[in-house]
Amino acid sequence: MTAITVTTHRATPRADVQQWVTANAPIIAQVVEQHFGRRLEPVTIVLTDPRGRSEKYWQVVAAITDGATPSRWQQALDWRERRRSIGEVTINPAGGTLMLLDATDPSMRRPGLAARTLAHELVHADQYGRPGVRESRIAGIRHNLGIETDHTRARAINRLVDQHEHEAYRLEKQLARQALGAVVR
Ligand SMILES: [Zn+2]
Repeated sequence: MTAITVTTHRATPRADVQQWVTANAPIIAQVVEQHFGRRLEPVTIVLTDPRGRSEKYWQVVAAITDGATPSRWQQALDWRERRRSIGEVTINPAGGTLMLLDATDPSMRRPGLAARTLAHELVHADQYGRPGVRESRIAGIRHNLGIETDHTRARAINRLVDQHEHEAYRLEKQLARQALGAVVR
């Protein structure tokens, strides 16, 4: 089974949320691994709040682009985009993936919803382990920052991101249910 580490950043999450995630993420990860028939790379879950998610994300971007800084416009766009979801998976510059979760969102206190979120994000973690995906995401980030300007390649990258999003939505309920049973509706 893959290594899942639960950490916190900025906000102190409620103890019940932290305990629930620590206990259940490995169970859901195992179902995701069975589904795809392969191991996940190590996943570091960061329980934080919306600001903390942003902070962590831009730290990752700085690390993988040798210190590039986003424009205010890019940051604002990203902030708006990020507020539509409570979690995301990104590259861990130290290896494997980082799952940034807004642990302050009320849905994280409802096991059925929290399980779906974890299953969704763990499907993304699997996607990062597929051939070429890590490189593709780095290229996408570089394009968003204006470092790379190959727009044809950017369109292909965006299509892959959309496909991955659909896959995660399509599988989240089924995998969460497989892991935790009837608590997931
Ligand atoms: Zn997603």
